Amino acid sequence: MTLERADVVVVGGGPAGLIAAREAATAGLDVVLVERDRAIGAPVRCGEGVGSRGLSEFIAPEGASWVARRITRVIFWAPDGTEVRVAEGDVGYILDRSRFEPALAAEAGRAGADIRVRTEAVALARQGDRWRVSLRGPHGGSDIDARIVIAADGVEALVARWAGLDTRVPARDMESCAQYVVSNIAFDPDAIYLHFGHRVAPGGYAWIFPKDVGVANVGLGIVALRAGGRHARAWLDDYMARYFPQGITTGYTVGGVIVHPTIKQTVTDGLLVCGDAAHMVNPLSGGGIVNAMKAGRLAARVSAQAIAAGDTSAARLQTYHDEWMRMLGDDHLRYYRLKEAISKFDDAFFDDLARTVNEIPTQRRTLGRIFASALVHHPTLVPVAARFFV
Ligand SMILES: Cc1cc2nc3c(=O)[nH]c(=O)nc-3n(C[C@H](O)[C@H](O)[C@H](O)COP(=O)(O)OP(=O)(O)OC[C@H]3O[C@@H](n4cnc5c(N)ncnc54)[C@H](O)[C@@H]3O)c2cc1C
Repeated sequence: MTLERADVVVVGGGPAGLIAAREAATAGLDVVLVERDRAIGAPVRCGEGVGSRGLSEFIAPEGASWVARRITRVIFWAPDGTEVRVAEGDVGYILDRSRFEPALAAEAGRAGADIRVRTEAVALARQGDRWRVSLRGPHGGSDIDARIVIAADGVEALVARWAGLDTRVPARDMESCAQYVVSNIAFDPDAIYLHFGHRVAPGGYAWIFPKDVGVANVGLGIVALRAGGRHARAWLDDYMARYFPQGITTGYTVGGVIVHPTIKQTVTDGLLVCGDAAHMVNPLSGGGIVNAMKAGRLAARVSAQAIAAGDTSAARLQTYHDEWMRMLGDDHLRYYRLKEAISKFDDAFFDDLARTVNEIPTQRRTLGRIFASALVHHPTLVPVAARFFV
């Protein structure tokens, strides 16, 4: 058994871990990133949609090989199919994550991070003011002593639990998702579609995210407790039969999305948790890629400051948690409350709301105006709005 030392061990080679590794290495730290899968970026368990502004904070998308499609429109479908166009312009991108994450890993590597694939963190033990991280890799077991561990191990997060943090997810806040890659279908290839309704995707929504003309990620997320005992794939098969019977399925994936606010404590002595592992997903949209990258960057910055100060205690690392909550965590709590409140309305309400919103001219359809108009026409929304602001 070999024993190495590093300033930072990052567990997980998703967006959170890769940005954490890139930024920590750029700050001059000695960084090892371990990823248990054989390849960074695979398998893809994602709709791959990201907003332009968030993405551009981290990497330039123009002309990149990892961009599958540029998106200029967002279209909501009400349960009865009423179409509502809500955003136009430089909306975002559909990534090819099998290329995107390798591109981030290459940047992290160039910055000096040591990226190790097919290497799994299997245990964690506190040794004085360091963590001993036990690894299982292609050549057997090894240990690394790290000043700081960044736990970016995604939805199945174990590392934070080993360190004593509570990352449990209530069953009602875990969406089960199923997604096909589908060819031979007709839709606007510059738009993403989000389709709501208790009979479409109970507790979640269905999405159509274009990868090319006639090719899209078509998926949905459901909350099992509301899904009448049927799993996500059964709901997706119904959806395909109804809306895309001519579609040719070329890929399939399943995965969980945590639609729960940030865990109460994201740091402990010498350890920070980021991305899905810390529930840093937008509870309304289920989007987590950009959030994970923002958390990874913040974790790297706070780690570098703590190591420079020679103090990696929980008290010192607490700034990570506080800054995250200010940046996005408090918003996620509001979105979570809003989601809880609107989940109580039935499909007829949303059909009606869609028609109300369609009365606002498309170019004037900002979120604020939609909200204000909805409140005027649908007084039942007032208590929901009140919950949003408390
Ligand atoms: C079906 C589906 C569709 C989605 N669509 C979108 C979307 O369109 N847009 C969006 O923004 N978000 C989407 N998401 C959410 C998004 O995928 C996540 O929020 C994002 O990947 C989180 O990044 P992360 O780095 O925290 O975790 P991950 O991307 O999950 O990365 C964690 C990594 O850690 C590795 N790992 C785990 N344990 C260990 C260990 N012990 N040792 C070493 N490595 C380990 C895993 O193999 C994994 O590679 C979707 C999710 C699903 C399931």
